[in-house]
Amino acid sequence: MLLLRNRGLLSLQVTSLLSSSTSSSSQATPPFFLCFKNTLFHSTHQNPSPKPKPKPQTQHHVSASKTEKQAISDTARFAQTFLFVPPGVDPEEVTDDMVLPGSNIVLGPYAGHSQIKEVEFVKSSSRPKDCPKDDRPEFAILGRSNVGKSSLINALVRKKEVALTSKKPGKTQLINHFLVNKSWYIVDLPGYGFAKAPESARMDWSAFTKGYFLNRATLVAVLLLIDASVPPQKIDLDCANWLGRNNIPMTFVFTKCDKMKGGKGKRPDENIKNFQVMMGQNYGKHPPWIMTSSVTGLGRDELLLHMSQLRNYWDN
Ligand code: GDP
Repeated sequence: MLLLRNRGLLSLQVTSLLSSSTSSSSQATPPFFLCFKNTLFHSTHQNPSPKPKPKPQTQHHVSASKTEKQAISDTARFAQTFLFVPPGVDPEEVTDDMVLPGSNIVLGPYAGHSQIKEVEFVKSSSRPKDCPKDDRPEFAILGRSNVGKSSLINALVRKKEVALTSKKPGKTQLINHFLVNKSWYIVDLPGYGFAKAPESARMDWSAFTKGYFLNRATLVAVLLLIDASVPPQKIDLDCANWLGRNNIPMTFVFTKCDKMKGGKGKRPDENIKNFQVMMGQNYGKHPPWIMTSSVTGLGRDELLLHMSQLRNYWDN
């Protein structure tokens, strides 16, 4: 069964900025809303399993009068404006403690077992069509070279050597699959934007990786890593815009958020805010986001929980 799930479920709106009460920083801003709507299923063999029945509060909406349906409470407007509200959560019901710290992500009923007990390297593929064909859900991890991708993967799986596979000579331009808990994959994709790479090499990377994104039916979401210790980079914005334009679900994972020292540059929270503002100017569609640090462990458990709810929803 081939299912292209979640491709059409991202309905995003950019509105205004807000000082976050959920972020670890007082200045970080979660300006975007993403909700699961208009889910599209493309099945080449059979219909997907039906979605679970809506929760009672959603049923209340369905039976409400037209006027009631149109009336949006302040709470719902807040949630719809700034937060990632997952399936099964009524924006009206969102409370502060449902929002993962340092993110705009609401935790919903699909969140479940999230810890990684075992991980094994499965294979490196040089072409998208050589990737594993067992229909297990997967998360692709993507980012500029030096963004902290290897560190994040190692922090997630709590092993030092895992992501080193992709750094071995010959493996850097490959799609590397790691099987987690025998049930889902972390996919390490080639880093992009090598400062010294000739333009032609960048284009090769694009063709190779674009093929993966556009054809991988089991892709639940892309974790797009953005270095929060530097100002927004054009190549990251270009990548996010390309994914957005192609309806590839993504989560912005801001890395190196421990680098809070003043110094010359801006603080991570300011860089994060600027990145999202620029995304808004360019395209207007934005995914959930979360702040992480592989040094302090910030955001690790929260990111795994977020991945569990996306995965469990996909699995249903
Ligand atoms: P990759 O090229 O994207 O795989 O990046 P690496 O994981 O190799 O990290 C690149 C550099 O950033 C290394 O010097 C890491 O020690 C550093 N780094 C990675 N993650 C963090 C982080 O969360 N905080 C800080 N301060 N440094 C990090």
